[in-house]
Amino acid sequence: PPLYKQRYQFIKDLVGKYKPKKVADLGCADCTLLWMLKFCNCIEVLAGLDICASVMKEKMHRLSPLPGDYLQPAERSLTVTLHHGSVAHKDPCMLGFDLVTCIELIEHLEQSELKKFPEVVFGFMAPSMVVISTPNSEFNPLLPGVTLFRHPDHKFEWNRAQFQSWALETARRYDYSVEFTGVGHPLTGMEKVGFCTQIGVFVRKYPQTTESARSEKPTEAVYKTVFKAVY
Ligand code: SAM
Repeated sequence: PPLYKQRYQFIKDLVGKYKPKKVADLGCADCTLLWMLKFCNCIEVLAGLDICASVMKEKMHRLSPLPGDYLQPAERSLTVTLHHGSVAHKDPCMLGFDLVTCIELIEHLEQSELKKFPEVVFGFMAPSMVVISTPNSEFNPLLPGVTLFRHPDHKFEWNRAQFQSWALETARRYDYSVEFTGVGHPLTGMEKVGFCTQIGVFVRKYPQTTESARSEKPTEAVYKTVFKAVY
């Protein structure tokens, strides 16, 4: 399967394993991952955030309930919300999540946004689990036609040592543990370059209740809600 599908499947497998109830996807683009996750029965709250409202709106109708969803007695409640805003800003609508995913997001952030990102995601949102994926630049020589970066909008592409030192320092600062994996295996004989997409899975070390998180964090709403569906 293509790489993007392998990344989404990685998240689906993780959701199947840990059964989070509330999942937020940061940099959700056309909401394909959210759409896949709406079929996971453990999930009761799904939220998406993107700085580009038009890309979010392209296919967001897929997140609306189908007529059949109303005919069958609801076995679970599901709320899907899309927000327009930046991961460089805190908004209370992002509190209380079990899993936050950032798939191919960080390499699109300007230096100033990347600097604020850990405090927003790990310090403020502080979910039980965070998944971050980003290109592994060591793989690039195996990709045809890639000279500097895989995509013209990328602000950087890190090798494994660069990603891991950023991730380990972030985890240390905010009391998370982190493990590294990836998707996209190199061909036989090229294994030393690692995965095409590198992934860090962060787990918060100490429990934190939603209530304590909220009361400690009075913040004004800055994101704009562009879509909401209640099943
Ligand atoms: N996560 C999706 C996926 O894996 O298919 C989309 C990844 S796309 C390469 C990166 C997305 O991040 C774009 O939709 C872009 O608009 C969004 N983005 C860039 N900077 C952002 C920011 N500061 N806050 C929120 N989203 C941002």
